[in-house]
Amino acid sequence: MKRIAVIDKERCNPIGCGGYLCIKRCPVNRMGKEAIVIGPDKKALINEEVATDACQVCVNICPYNAIHMVKLPDELTTRPIHRYGKDQFMLYSLPTPLTGKVVGILGVNGIGKSTAIKVLAGVLHPNLGNPDAPQADIAQLIRLFKGTEAQAFFEKLRDREITVSYKPQDIEKIPKAAKGKVKDLLKKVDQKKQLGQVAAQLEITPILDNNINEISGGELQRVAIAATVLKDANLFIFDEPSSYLDIKQRLRIAQFIKSLANESTSVVVIEHDLIVIDYLADQLNIMYGKEKVYGIVAQPKPAKAGINAYLEGFIREDNVRFRDHKIKFEIRAHEKKSGKSVIAQWPAMEKKLGKFHLSVSEGSIHRQEIIGIIGPNGIGKTTFVRLLAGVEKPDTGSPETKVTVSYKPQTLESASEKPVLEVLQEAIQKHMSDIITPLNIQDLFAKPLNTLSGGELQRVAIAQALSRKADLILLDEPSAYLDVEQRLIVSKVIKSIAETRGCAILVVDHDLLFIDYLSDRLIVFEGAPAREGIESGPYAMEEGMNKLLREVNITLRREEHSGRPRINKPGSVLDREQQAQGKMYYS
Ligand code: ADP
Ligand code: SF4
Repeated sequence: MKRIAVIDKERCNPIGCGGYLCIKRCPVNRMGKEAIVIGPDKKALINEEVATDACQVCVNICPYNAIHMVKLPDELTTRPIHRYGKDQFMLYSLPTPLTGKVVGILGVNGIGKSTAIKVLAGVLHPNLGNPDAPQADIAQLIRLFKGTEAQAFFEKLRDREITVSYKPQDIEKIPKAAKGKVKDLLKKVDQKKQLGQVAAQLEITPILDNNINEISGGELQRVAIAATVLKDANLFIFDEPSSYLDIKQRLRIAQFIKSLANESTSVVVIEHDLIVIDYLADQLNIMYGKEKVYGIVAQPKPAKAGINAYLEGFIREDNVRFRDHKIKFEIRAHEKKSGKSVIAQWPAMEKKLGKFHLSVSEGSIHRQEIIGIIGPNGIGKTTFVRLLAGVEKPDTGSPETKVTVSYKPQTLESASEKPVLEVLQEAIQKHMSDIITPLNIQDLFAKPLNTLSGGELQRVAIAQALSRKADLILLDEPSAYLDVEQRLIVSKVIKSIAETRGCAILVVDHDLLFIDYLSDRLIVFEGAPAREGIESGPYAMEEGMNKLLREVNITLRREEHSGRPRINKPGSVLDREQQAQGKMYYS
């Protein structure tokens, strides 16, 4: 049996555990060997080759769950590609770019997706699983992948037939590293001299004269995509290109990225928005293993079959079950909660804020309702909720009910060094079983806020907003940084809180599948961001979705096995049928 031992150095807290508890209690150490020792960074360090296979004492004793000892699948015969350190994450295989195709990568957070594409992009030089050995050269990689598609890929890389351009996930770092006007920064990378054309396609022409540190998240994402495609490359790699983009922009970007793949160019994309990746990818690589410990890339499959296998949690060809349950999107009637008492009611209202004007149409929300809110950023969604809460006074009209509001903002940044345990004190006391445990926050208790990853901070912020006592809870983009599984867990937690507490929950999000799965009704915002916002609804799901889908000119159907929504191919029989009936949405 092969096994891998990993210590999460961020979690390891030798002072907090009373002084290297694992080292003191390790039965192998007590016999005079050195299975677990103090590392150069003063954290615990496991000597995998000395530790005994069956012993799990340190795993069970560590109060911070910092130690992982995991059995590797017996079927795993491939040699490792990269290990970050002696007792750190190990990557076992690589996705293969295919000429003329978009290859998608799907997997939970922490499974090695970014690591894998950094190797492909040449940003990370792999050590073939031995962190003490010199980095592998391309000849070694070619030998390692003999007889596979990857061999051909590395040969082309060696012969300089492949030039890679890569968009990283964490675009927030760009304004910290680069200064100046967007136009000047893009000119520097414009090897193809296509800045004007690409800027128009990505709709960033109006912000070219802005400073890079003054643009919004959605604008920054499109600038990063522009910088990637302006390079004269024939392999384009995008790590989470849809973050911060609204639904329309996501579809536009998907079409744009799809159009890059041609007879001499290939594209690789990591993406958690299932509707987007389904629309975008020709082939799909599932990554599985154990998050933070090891990751394996499965053989590529056609996108539809790949997404279904991912939801199923089973890869037939490799005979691997990587999740003990299936993910299924039950075909359900979106619930009508009109029988419940009204929690918020308002007449038509107007509000001017500087150059921005918001008009709101008359409406009401009931107890226990989950209202999905769709529309672009900067269109007045927060202002609307502030009007309902009475924090902002409308110029005309006035809400008939005054509600208390709990709010999770879209952008999460924390410089606080307070540990999660302190920040979430109230939630931990009152909502251990319905919020903290399902969101898997216990493991984060000791971590200071400013050390959390995007996904961790998101879960903490959601827990905080859901645990505050309020009539309305507004969650602005809760799906950002979360993987597919986490998005579904968050949906379930939101549903159960609305039901048990009798509050209403408003969810602003741009992941159409998440909104569809979660919402009872929809509020739609239209207009021109930063100038004019027009609110209408809440609509019944079908009406609201039809309104949105007509605007973006796509039709949706349900996939027969998983029940997930899929975009119909434009011009296909189903697309034309649904368009003719005015039924853009399937329900
Ligand atoms: P969203 O939550 O959808 O991003 P907001 O309600 O925050 O939208 O803001 C909508 C628009 O109103 C934005 O373009 C913002 O710049 C502008 N805005 C918001 N508050 C003010 C204010 N106090 N003064 C001037 N403009 C504002
Ligand atoms: Fe203490 Fe756990 Fe770190 Fe060992 S791994 S030193 S038990 S915190």
